Amino acid sequence: MAAAESFREHDADTPVRILTADADLPYARPPLSKEYLRGQADDVALHQVQWFDDRAIEITCGAAVDRLDLAGRAVYAGEERHAFDTVILACGAAPTAPTFPGGERALLLRSLADAAALRNASINAASAVVIGSGFIGCEAAASLALRGVPVTLVAPEPLPQEKRLGTDAAKRLRDLVSEAGARHVGGVTVEEINDVGVRLDDGVTIDSDLVLAATGVTPQSRIAAEAGLAVRDSRIVVDSGMATSAPDVYAAGDVALARHEVAGRHLVIEHWQDAVDQGSIAGSCAAASPTKWSGVPGFWTSIGDATLKYHAWGDGYERSRMVQHRDGFTVWYESGDVAVGVLTYNADDDYGLGERLIAERRPAPVPT
Ligand SMILES: Cc1cc2nc3c(=O)[nH]c(=O)nc-3n(C[C@H](O)[C@H](O)[C@H](O)COP(=O)(O)OP(=O)(O)OC[C@H]3O[C@@H](n4cnc5c(N)ncnc54)[C@H](O)[C@@H]3O)c2cc1C
Repeated sequence: MAAAESFREHDADTPVRILTADADLPYARPPLSKEYLRGQADDVALHQVQWFDDRAIEITCGAAVDRLDLAGRAVYAGEERHAFDTVILACGAAPTAPTFPGGERALLLRSLADAAALRNASINAASAVVIGSGFIGCEAAASLALRGVPVTLVAPEPLPQEKRLGTDAAKRLRDLVSEAGARHVGGVTVEEINDVGVRLDDGVTIDSDLVLAATGVTPQSRIAAEAGLAVRDSRIVVDSGMATSAPDVYAAGDVALARHEVAGRHLVIEHWQDAVDQGSIAGSCAAASPTKWSGVPGFWTSIGDATLKYHAWGDGYERSRMVQHRDGFTVWYESGDVAVGVLTYNADDDYGLGERLIAERRPAPVPT
């Protein structure tokens, strides 16, 4: 969407076509585990049909592209051939389905159809288990609990996202999940989903008639790899203008491994606003108006009523330090003597300051 919109802003004449495997017109994904799942929002569409018509952007839903022919300058969706001068791959990522016995019984959450199925299942659920304590797992567990479903969040990590965000932050995440009404059980691995519920490796079976697997995603890079584009760790390698290893082929969003102009290296980022930014850059560059990815990556997450905000390069840190506030906190992440990340809860000033310090490679404002 962002790529098509930005291309059109820079080029009024060239035909633009979006092909998407999704049956629905483009929608916002972040609310799917939050307001939508809680039943507080139904309409998550980004634009109505008229918006596309007004910009002469053709969109075809339910069109899964299965082949990219670089030499022939065309993509194929089944038998349908679509020729291109320029192509932008924004295929995103798909949830990784669990492989343990009974894993196919778990619901997944990526698309609007997935979210609708989950919300419907929650209406009659006597109890639920959410597997995986990443942000989507934490958000979904909190939202299901707020709907009145008794829910248990289980994960191998003792505390949610302890490895990524540090122990202090992870404890607060666990508390926010609990305050929203979900039970957190860390340090366990699911061995099976059976007729009763979810069996863990400690021998305990948690009764549940609804299981959500929030166990990570796999970038949808197959067609790019098969076409011979440079792909690393399942992501399409692009420069800071979103150009791939082939001329006139761009990639953006969760499927891309993009070079960040300020960080000076490629970053793995799976955030909504960064996908929008990268899409805009790809569209602009494809329309011969060069621009580079330079904003500090970041996202917001809502666990129950609490919103946490995060800016970071996202590829690790050497030290983390939590600063408590009256009704919130800030965690500063540093490598060497510069800030590389900031996580805030009810501390918007630090969130803004953190973005600047990270971009300018300056130290975090806490005593050493
Ligand atoms: C439930 C949920 C909550 C989230 N909450 C947040 C949040 O609060 N904050 C945040 O920053 N991020 C959040 N995210 C992550 C964010 O939504 C993603 O980073 C973002 O959607 C990535 O955008 P994208 O365009 O790269 O990929 P996607 O949004 O995944 O879009 C890719 C599209 O390409 C289509 N597609 C894939 N392969 C093909 C093909 N071969 N042919 C045709 N079409 C294809 C897919 O059907 C899909 O429509 C959330 C994600 C989920 C699932």
